[in-house]
Amino acid sequence: MFNDYRGVWVYIEQNDGVIEGVALELLGAGRKLADKLEVPLSGVLLGDNVKSLCSTVFEFGADKVYLIDNPVLKDYRTESYMTGVNMLCEKYKPEIFLYGATPNGKDLASAVATDLSTGLTADTTMLDVEVETRLLEASRPAFGGNIMATILCKKHRPQMATVRPKVMKALSPERGRIGTIIEETIGLREEDMRTKVLKIVKDVGKKVNLAEAHIIVAGGKGLGDEKGFQLIHELADVLGGTVGASRDVVEAGWISHDYQVGQTGETVTPKLYFAIGISGAIQHVVGMKNSEMIIAINKDENAPIFDVATYGIVGDAFDIVPKLIEQFRNS
Ligand code: FAD
Repeated sequence: MFNDYRGVWVYIEQNDGVIEGVALELLGAGRKLADKLEVPLSGVLLGDNVKSLCSTVFEFGADKVYLIDNPVLKDYRTESYMTGVNMLCEKYKPEIFLYGATPNGKDLASAVATDLSTGLTADTTMLDVEVETRLLEASRPAFGGNIMATILCKKHRPQMATVRPKVMKALSPERGRIGTIIEETIGLREEDMRTKVLKIVKDVGKKVNLAEAHIIVAGGKGLGDEKGFQLIHELADVLGGTVGASRDVVEAGWISHDYQVGQTGETVTPKLYFAIGISGAIQHVVGMKNSEMIIAINKDENAPIFDVATYGIVGDAFDIVPKLIEQFRNS
């Protein structure tokens, strides 16, 4: 039925000529799908003066890059980017198309899906493909995170998904790996555009970068109140780590949403994640379960956080954490 649709595509989001990390992660995930289906993996790169980025896309696993280089594509705008991507889809017919679940990626994917009348699974955290049916299995937390739903797009092509940053793993770059650049043009001119970018104001106020942190010390409602939560700040300080929090802590106003880990916060993959006084609700766990090492401290030995922990300490945070702080300070 869809025999003319072939190949796995990844949208290579770039901002100011810098490729977003999630695009490289998706090339890693896309490579596995493409190998299973025995089809090429392609990157889709749009922008102004971005051809030099193609080599990075090849080094991270793509066989081809579909490139549209045009001054109109200097800054992201739904109209111009959607026009370019749709033209490529109609001409080259990918069977699977993945986007990072970033603000621009989500905006573009939904506009493309609407225009092409195809389905889109948003905020995916797991991807696989059934080789016989060639169906993409895109899984994401559903019903408030209580179940994982696997969503199939049976009747339309391309099968599209946005994927959360930091969930998939990028391949190690293979220096000097090359592929084919397929360059296309779009007939858009600045004067045809209905929207203009007047100014881009960068958010410099956000101090925390949880997604890039190597050590995160996260605290939950078990810390009792804002004063109790200070222990989390102290432990993070002595370890040179970043503070994280559960949603209940954010809702209680002990810390801002920038620090929230989980389904409606950040997805993190640090080398070390402390979960202190955090019960381990699925909505929290989906955001931190891929951390390299997880140390959980909880006074309830049956707390679900212990199911994902590398090491678990059953006990009162107010006994244990001050001892840890002292030990680390003196070591
Ligand atoms: P609790 O569940 O109250 O757990 C507190 C834990 O501390 C308990 O396990 C307790 O045994 C332990 N404890 C108590 N006292 C001590 C002590 N003295 N020492 C040691 N341990 C102690 N949550 C998130 O975190 N991130 C999200 O992004 C997120 N998104 C959500 C999205 C939706 C749509 C929904 C419905 C919920 C979401 N939640 C999210 C909320 C989530 O379901 C939980 O309610 C929340 O994670 C619980 O936070 P907590 O573990 O801090 O608190």
